[in-house]
Amino acid sequence: MLGYSSVNPGLTEIFEHAYRELRPRAPAPEFDIRFFRFASVNNTIRLRQGTARVRISDLLEGAPVSVLEAIAHILLAKLYRKPIAPARAARYRKYISSRRMSARTHLVRQMRGRKQVASPQGRVYDLETIFDQLNTRYFHGLLGRPQMTWSRDHARNSLGHYDPAHNTIVISRIFDRPSVPRYAVEYLVYHEMLHLKHPVRLRGSRRCVHPRQFQAEEKLFPELEQARRFLKAL
Ligand SMILES: [Zn+2]
Repeated sequence: MLGYSSVNPGLTEIFEHAYRELRPRAPAPEFDIRFFRFASVNNTIRLRQGTARVRISDLLEGAPVSVLEAIAHILLAKLYRKPIAPARAARYRKYISSRRMSARTHLVRQMRGRKQVASPQGRVYDLETIFDQLNTRYFHGLLGRPQMTWSRDHARNSLGHYDPAHNTIVISRIFDRPSVPRYAVEYLVYHEMLHLKHPVRLRGSRRCVHPRQFQAEEKLFPELEQARRFLKAL
């Protein structure tokens, strides 16, 4: 499986600061803060085993600091049942109801709300064709093709994964775009094909997801470094 998460250090500081304002004496939780592709503007917070998991709509990525401060205050006040400062609530409301923001929200809701049927044929790339070509090029055509499908949603936390129970390779739909180079999609599929070839084994009590042989074969992919750079820059 390939995935990644991003934590914005500036955001963590904003949340720590907002926490201190609300609860000056209680020790702060760890913060795990990410932007998330909700279908509309939405922000959530949950406390799990000492970690506050915060998900902020990616529509608010790039919002002014005062807006992010307001969000931090509102979420933490809700979590700890403290009164929400009216000025903060007003700041947030004003921003999301601004004309520019509501236009963006409207567009994104239309795009993300649309139901998508899982299928190997995307708008740009056909995963079955990519699988077959890679199979010929790197596996002597020996791998049986599993179900190939683009994810239903635009998941960012999982770029691709192989599901052995359903014999399915799922690639995140965010890569089915003309701006995504073919080698990046090929690399994601190639990585999952290696999972197909090297089933997850237990070594002692540890799950060995990418054994040495897996990693060695991954290096045979010629655009490996380019593909990794592209994925990192997403
Ligand atoms: Zn993997």
